Amino acid sequence: DVVVVGSVNADLVVKVERRPAPGETVMGSDLDTFPGGKGANQAVAAARLGADVALLARTGTDQYGTRLVAGLAAEGVSVEHVVESEGASGVALITVDADGDNSIIVSPGANARLTPADVAAAADLLGGAAVVSLMLEIPLETVTAAARAARRAVLNASPPRPLPRELLALADPLVVNEHEAAFLLGSEGDPAGMARALLALGPRSVVITLGAEGAVVAESSDAARPVHVDGSPDRVSSGDLPDHASLGPRGASSDSASSDLASGARGPSGRADGVVVTVVPSPVVDAVDTTGAGDAFTGALAWRLALGDTLPEAAALAVKVGAAAVRREGAQSSYPRMEEL
Ligand code: ADP
Repeated sequence: DVVVVGSVNADLVVKVERRPAPGETVMGSDLDTFPGGKGANQAVAAARLGADVALLARTGTDQYGTRLVAGLAAEGVSVEHVVESEGASGVALITVDADGDNSIIVSPGANARLTPADVAAAADLLGGAAVVSLMLEIPLETVTAAARAARRAVLNASPPRPLPRELLALADPLVVNEHEAAFLLGSEGDPAGMARALLALGPRSVVITLGAEGAVVAESSDAARPVHVDGSPDRVSSGDLPDHASLGPRGASSDSASSDLASGARGPSGRADGVVVTVVPSPVVDAVDTTGAGDAFTGALAWRLALGDTLPEAAALAVKVGAAAVRREGAQSSYPRMEEL
């Protein structure tokens, strides 16, 4: 269903009372080591839900490489295309202070050595997948090469960096949180307005995740109809589709998307500009740890799109997965199975 081209990291976490100032040493808790990296997180999120998912990535020859690959395989992710690269694996050095705030240093290690040549070597794998899911913890030229080779590219533009126009134009959807949206736009705004503004930058569709508020989807109205990847309509019928699932585009409606958001209403609302904006509310949960929520959302979204969901349908499942992921500690360790949803 899905190929993820992306990063694999070991997350090394120490809890501290407070962060050290320059030149200072502070004592911390025992070190916890967790599997991470936005690419691996997406792949595990999708695999937990039952997706057939392969990962194209690089890990190092240090102590972390083999453990990370074994962990992914145990989650049911296909790791045949995880290449071992001489040197260090990707590592995230994370300190969590008494307020629960994270400071993170990412050392890309082998992730930086995932090249367009690796993508070319996996051309059949990528071309055969309904969806290729991407993020920005690997070199941009590799992300672009993968998007080019994909039938459909989901691009989580995180961590935020300026995007080449070609890559942006291939994103379907571009997935960002509010901070990343503001970074790409150079200014903040209301979610529906930012989604429209991002769509105007060139991607085929846009999803902005809004934390506890869920997500907002923007697509052009001619794109906003059910797409059946394999031509069989029954692939989109499932028990948990949103109410508007089969309605397709509604053209111009008098409701503005921002008033939909305020009232928590569902369903697409367009204006006369040919853009349909859909607000997808998140379930209300007690948030314990939001680490990796965006990756869980993106992995789930990519999977549902691969099965033939429309973008609002896929987002409706993805917000449930994101919400489930914030109810427990950690990133991958917090990701739900289908039956939990
Ligand atoms: P990121 O983790 O990239 O910053 P968000 O914070 O927007 O992204 O979260 C991604 C998704 O996770 C949201 O769309 C939502 O479904 C879910 N989520 C995140 N925080 C919460 C929360 N406090 N309550 C419920 N759902 C949440």
